[in-house]
Amino acid sequence: MAMQQNGSASDIHKHNDRSASNHPITTNGSEEVEHQQTGRFTFSAEPNLEDIRRMQAEFTDERNWNQFHQPRNLLLALVGEVGEVSELFQWRGEVAEGLPDWTEPEREHLAQELSDVLIYLVELAEKCNVDLPRAVLRKMALNRLKYPANKVHGSAKKYTEYKD
Ligand SMILES: [Mg+2]
Repeated sequence: MAMQQNGSASDIHKHNDRSASNHPITTNGSEEVEHQQTGRFTFSAEPNLEDIRRMQAEFTDERNWNQFHQPRNLLLALVGEVGEVSELFQWRGEVAEGLPDWTEPEREHLAQELSDVLIYLVELAEKCNVDLPRAVLRKMALNRLKYPANKVHGSAKKYTEYKD
């Protein structure tokens, strides 16, 4: 089932590795200023993952849909939404960063489908009792160990292809 949450093309952000010091809670206007200063697109601070988990839990509770939202069903729904994202990129060839050739309705459609993916991902994590924000911290630490920056800089090789 599609869940159209509020969203816009400005919700499509690419990077999230900003430092705490340059991460103000901003409105759309000051986001643009920040983007110009750092040269990198950034997310709004809110809603955070717990906010999204809670909003989706309320949405599901209000409709008595928890009976359908078991982990396997949520996983299949998530994969279906990834397919919907894929459809938007299908047959276009490589797409430049920032999607300069996309129309505003296409950007909005992408924002909605990416939101569906995130919503189902967050709900799947909740129903599996995975504390997703903390899990991401642990996984990023593992990724840093697996791919030391001084060893892999500029290379797309898989970690199994590196020699000590
Ligand atoms: Mg969808």
